[in-house]
Amino acid sequence: MTLSLHGLPVARGIAIGRAVLVVSSRLDVAHYFIQPWEVDAEIGRLRTARDAVSQELVRLQASVSQMTREETPHELAALLEVHQMLLQDEALTEGVKHWISERLYNAEWALTTQLEVVARQFDEMEDPYLRERKADLEQVVERLLRQMKGTAAVLAPTPPPRRARTEGDEDEGDGFDAPLVLVAHDLSPADMLQFKKSVFAGFVTDVGGKTSHTAIVARSMDIPAVVGARSASQLVRQDDWVIIDGEAGVVIVDPSPIILAEYGFKQRQGELERERLWRLRHKPAITLDGEPVELLANIEMPEDSEAAVKAGAVGVGLFRSEFLFMGREARSLTRLPDEEEQYAAYRRAVDGMRGMPVTIRTIDIGADKPLDGKGSKQEYLNPALGLRAIRWSLAEPAMFLVQLRAILRAAAHGPVQLLIPMLAHAREIRQTLALLEQARAELRGQGIPQGEVKLGAMIEIPAAALMLRVFLKHFDFLSIGTNDLIQYTLAIDRADEAVSHLYDPCHPAVLRLVADTIAECRRQGKGVSVCGEMAGDVQFTRLLLGLGLRSFSMHPSQILAVKQEVLRADSGKLAPWAQQVLDSDDPAELLGA
Ligand code: PEP
Ligand code: MG
Repeated sequence: MTLSLHGLPVARGIAIGRAVLVVSSRLDVAHYFIQPWEVDAEIGRLRTARDAVSQELVRLQASVSQMTREETPHELAALLEVHQMLLQDEALTEGVKHWISERLYNAEWALTTQLEVVARQFDEMEDPYLRERKADLEQVVERLLRQMKGTAAVLAPTPPPRRARTEGDEDEGDGFDAPLVLVAHDLSPADMLQFKKSVFAGFVTDVGGKTSHTAIVARSMDIPAVVGARSASQLVRQDDWVIIDGEAGVVIVDPSPIILAEYGFKQRQGELERERLWRLRHKPAITLDGEPVELLANIEMPEDSEAAVKAGAVGVGLFRSEFLFMGREARSLTRLPDEEEQYAAYRRAVDGMRGMPVTIRTIDIGADKPLDGKGSKQEYLNPALGLRAIRWSLAEPAMFLVQLRAILRAAAHGPVQLLIPMLAHAREIRQTLALLEQARAELRGQGIPQGEVKLGAMIEIPAAALMLRVFLKHFDFLSIGTNDLIQYTLAIDRADEAVSHLYDPCHPAVLRLVADTIAECRRQGKGVSVCGEMAGDVQFTRLLLGLGLRSFSMHPSQILAVKQEVLRADSGKLAPWAQQVLDSDDPAELLGA
C-alpha cells in the first residue's frame, strides 16, 4: 500500500530506490559495508559468536540444573532452552547471511537488520505467548553482539555496498540493481561521514532539523534527503521501494506505477537542470552591474576540496575541522588526531585548493556533533548552550595548541585563514589570541616552518553581533554563521524538528543582525562572508547582495545555483529593496520565501 510521509526538505532532488534500514535501538552497533571477498570471514565471525553463545547457554543450563527448585524457578531452564532454539533458528541465521552476502553489511548490522525483520513477524502473531518471545530474541541478539565486540574488522574506507553480480544472476526485476536509500531514526554526523563515500541515493531520518549537522552533511553529499519524517523508520520496511522528494520534504513508500512514472519524470527534469547549471562553472560570478562576488566552498574533509574546485569555488570559506575528530572510536582510532595527522589533513586541503585560500575553522565539537558519534543529548542538560566550539577548545588548551600548531604549519604551503567559532566574550578573544601567539612562538622556537594566517571570527551568537566593535579590533574578517545565529537569536534548537517551524531565517531580528554585521565590516574595510546555510539558499542570494555581501560560502553542490542568481542580479537596484525587506514586519512576504 502506498504511503506518504512528510518531513523537512534538506537536500534537493528526487531519489528512487530500495530502503536500507539502519535500525536504531538500544543495540548500538557500527554500520559499514564489507568488501565482497570479506563475506566468508564475516559469516565466520557470526558463526564463531553463535557457537560461543551456544556454549554459554549450555553452561548456564548445566548450572541451573544443579540448583534446587527454591534457588531457581523452573521457568528459567525453559527460557534458556527457548534462547538456544532462537539462536539456532534458521529465520535468524539465514536472514543474517543474506544481508551479509547480498548487501555486504557488516555482521552486526546484518544481525540487527534481521532482528528487526523477525521482530516484526513476532509483533504480528496472535498468540500472546509467542508475541512475548520477541524480547527473548532481542536478548539472544544482544549476547551475539557482545560476543562479536572486538572482532570487527577496521572500517572499509571506500565501501562498495553492492554485491558483484555473479554468473547465473538474472535480473529478476527484484530491484537487485536498484539504487539504495538510507532510512534511519537518526544518524549522527559521524555516521553520515561514514556513509559519505557509499552509493546511497538518498536519506530519510525520523528526527533532525533543516540545519542540523546531519542535514548539512547530507547536503554536502548532494543527494536528496528528508529529515524530521517522524516515524519513517517504523513505517518503512527493509527493501521497500521508496521515493524521496528532497525539495518538497516528502517520502513515498511503496509507490504505485503511476506515481513512480511521475517522479521518474521529475527526476530527469532535475538532471537536465543540473546539466544546464554545470555550464556556468568557469564563468566568473559578477553581477549585472559589474560587482564581483566571491563564491567559496564549505567542506568537511580535505578530500572535499576536489568537489570545491570542480564546482568553480574560488576558495574554501569554511573547513569544518571537527569532522576529523568525530567517530574515531568506531574506526578503532585514538580519540583525537595528533599534530602530524592534523597537519597532513590541513595540508591536503591546502594543496587540493591549488593556491586558493582555505579557511580552517578550529574544532566546533559539542551540541549535535559529539566526539564519539553517539547522541550527546542524554549526557548534557542543554548541549547547544553548553561546552561547544571555542568553549571546548579553551577548556582543553593542550588540544587547542596542537590544532593551532598544525594549522600554522599547513599555512606554510598556501594561503590559510584561521576561523574561530562561537566567540561571545572579549575574554575568550584574548585567551584565543594568547594561545595562538604561544603556538607561533613554540614553532618559531623549534625551527618548524609556519605561514602567516588571516584571523577571522564567526558571528554566531547575538552577543557577538552586538559587539562588533570589539571583534573588529582583533580580527581581519568575520564570517556569519547563520545556522547558529538563528538558533541562538530565536532560542530554537536547530536539530529539533518539533520546533523547526519556528526556525526562521527571515525573522526581522535575524536579518537585522546579519545586515548590521555586513554593514559594519564594510564600513571598517574588513572582510565579511556568510557561511551558514543561508549563503547557499538561492532564496536569499538577492537579499544578501542587496545588503552588501560579496562573499558567500556554501556546499560545493550549491555554488552553481547561487552563481546563476548572482549573474542575474543588479546589486545597485537590490540595495533599496533590501532595506525595505529589513524594515518590514514580514520580510518573508517580500522575499517570497
Ligand atoms: C553556522 O552556525 O552557521 C555554521 C556555519 O557553523 P555550523 O553549521 O558548523 O555550526
Ligand atoms: Mg555554527
